[in-house]
Amino acid sequence: MRQKRSPEDYLWTVWLLSARTVTPQHYTLTDQLIFAFEEATLRLESAAEALLLKENYSPECEKDLAALGTSIEKFKDSIGSTIFMEGTKSKELMADLYSSTPAAASAKVELGNLTVGQKFKNEPGTTAVAELSGNLIFIDPQKIGKNLQQNMGLFFHEKLHNLTGLTDDVIQDKLGLTVDSNNSKNISDKLVKDCINK
Ligand SMILES: [Zn+2]
Repeated sequence: MRQKRSPEDYLWTVWLLSARTVTPQHYTLTDQLIFAFEEATLRLESAAEALLLKENYSPECEKDLAALGTSIEKFKDSIGSTIFMEGTKSKELMADLYSSTPAAASAKVELGNLTVGQKFKNEPGTTAVAELSGNLIFIDPQKIGKNLQQNMGLFFHEKLHNLTGLTDDVIQDKLGLTVDSNNSKNISDKLVKDCINK
């Protein structure tokens, strides 16, 4: 299990990122996968930090979080324990991401031995998958772009799964959005609108 990283780890990553720009041809495919994950993780950590440092959240944002049974304070408190995982190669069972929820038994039946990696492969639109009522966030590093605002929306969205244990369809319903488990970007977009831009 990936532990929270120390300042030395950040320096190491920064060194790796700068080294890569000098001699990219010297790196193997595995190196490149690790770089991609480190880079994506850094981008999401910057987004998390920006959300943590933001002092004033709008009444609309407070209302959204209240509808999901949580608050800005609880959200901020949960940020520090986040653990990012490489999703596309993960052998973790999807069903295990439900193990802390009332849906644990039905998820086992429904999802069987489907792994997180297989989910990313089967559903190419997937950017991230979060543990429900936990602290793991699995990502496809190739899909984490450079746009800070978008990354803040994505991170906020995934943390709401960690924090509330609610699935996409339930969150969409409670926020008054179109319910579509296969396209949950409307959750991130709503958070950008209510919690980041305001
Ligand atoms: Zn989601």
